[in-house]
Amino acid sequence: AAEEGFDADEINADLDGASHGPLPVLAVVGRPNVGKSTLVNRIIGRREAVVEDRPGVTRDRVTYEAMWAGRRFKLVDTGGWELDVFGLDAMVAAQAEFGIQSADAVLFVVDATVGATDTDEALIKLIRRSGKPVVLCANKVDGPSTEAEAAYLWSLGLGEPYPVSALHGRGSGDLLDAVLEVLPEAPPQLFGNGQAPGGPRRVALIGRPNVGKSSLLNKVAGEERVVVNELAGTTRDPVDEMIELGGKTWKFVDTAGIRRRVHQTAGADFYASLRTASALEKAEVAVVLIDASETLAEQDTRIISMAVEAGRAVVIAYNKWDQLDEERRYYLEREIERDLVQVQWAPRVNVSAKTGRHMEKLVPAIETALQGWETRVSTARLNAFLGELVAAHPHPIRGGKQPRVLFGTQAGTRPPRFVLFASGFLEAGYRRFIERRLREEFGFVGTPISISVRVRE
Ligand code: GDP
Ligand code: GDP
Repeated sequence: AAEEGFDADEINADLDGASHGPLPVLAVVGRPNVGKSTLVNRIIGRREAVVEDRPGVTRDRVTYEAMWAGRRFKLVDTGGWELDVFGLDAMVAAQAEFGIQSADAVLFVVDATVGATDTDEALIKLIRRSGKPVVLCANKVDGPSTEAEAAYLWSLGLGEPYPVSALHGRGSGDLLDAVLEVLPEAPPQLFGNGQAPGGPRRVALIGRPNVGKSSLLNKVAGEERVVVNELAGTTRDPVDEMIELGGKTWKFVDTAGIRRRVHQTAGADFYASLRTASALEKAEVAVVLIDASETLAEQDTRIISMAVEAGRAVVIAYNKWDQLDEERRYYLEREIERDLVQVQWAPRVNVSAKTGRHMEKLVPAIETALQGWETRVSTARLNAFLGELVAAHPHPIRGGKQPRVLFGTQAGTRPPRFVLFASGFLEAGYRRFIERRLREEFGFVGTPISISVRVRE
């Protein structure tokens, strides 16, 4: 699997240098040499590093402007003061205290390869006393082998340690996601279209040929818009289309591939599946269209699987509802129970592109799915839940041993990803049981979720 990438360009792409109004402030706190400056440079994306390879080198304490996921904030590196006669601990404490007081939240950096030292403990006391929200960064986790060390930092009592390699960028995205959760919102920065930065949500409309994709698109986009495109004599369809629905603008990706009528010849399926893959690649949420008037085809379930495997939010829309009689409706329900159990969690809408039936239900379904896709469960809540679950339903004993779930953390969102730390291998059946209970407890409507297990000796 790809490492959690971290792209400074992405963060800075929208930075225009000027700040509007007060931005929330994040203080980066930690003892010397844990990698604070490296991390700050990572986040702001400037590589002309102030980092030097020895502890406590003199640097100015600087404030930088940063942006992540469309939100701007200020970053204060508290690590740059010269050591003096007061000695290490006093000096570090003074730096940190200043930084913490002037901040809205604290990013506490620990060197995971070293573990928590007495100095770290002293800093934690300071942070606690301040009452400021804190995110724990377990730095220098350059690869999976050091991840267990990061897990031990749970013992600091600051919640979930986010394993990061400031040097390589690994894990920084999740760290920043967590930071944004504790930072207060800056005044929103609106773009021309009145939408928050990040732009309209991206929707892929997919389904096998003839289920009614272009009909649905025409319906939601309005027939006129299509005609206008043709009149304008555009030689080439736009690849994506902005469509207003439910008072919002949505970007329907790869609509050109829908509108272009692919002849039903040999190879058409192949091109259709290429289009599906490329649309999924660009989208956040997939609306999978199924012809409800026909028996569910293997191609329908394959397309649903593609969306799930791509990790997209999923809405299932049964089209041509105007053509259903009682009997077909009965069989459809049976088909759904039998063949679509793996996506029971997907919101379902029964529509007709022809009559316009239930078009208004499409947007709420998409929004629900996106919400599930972006849900983050706090580590405290997750572990309270897991604790009860595991106590009531322990893993079956195998070969005289009983693997135990020690704790869990949500490692990411879009879609939600969970990592469970266990004392032994967890059977697939038990993992599915945990997934089912997670969904019952926290919702996750419309989103695939992944659960991986790390065995800790
Ligand atoms: P600061 O004193 O907390 O500001 O720490 P620096 O950012 O100056 O980093 C101290 C040393 O740790 C430098 O040699 C960095 O290259 C190194 N370092 C920082 N982050 C990482 C990391 O993620 N992995 C590894 N292996 N080294 C790191
Ligand atoms: P696509 O290949 O998925 O883009 O499917 P089209 O939009 O071209 O539709 C295929 C056929 O189904 C066309 O003849 C449409 O008129 C018809 N169709 C699409 N939606 C509906 C619907 O809701 N009800 C009925 N009765 N026919 C529909």
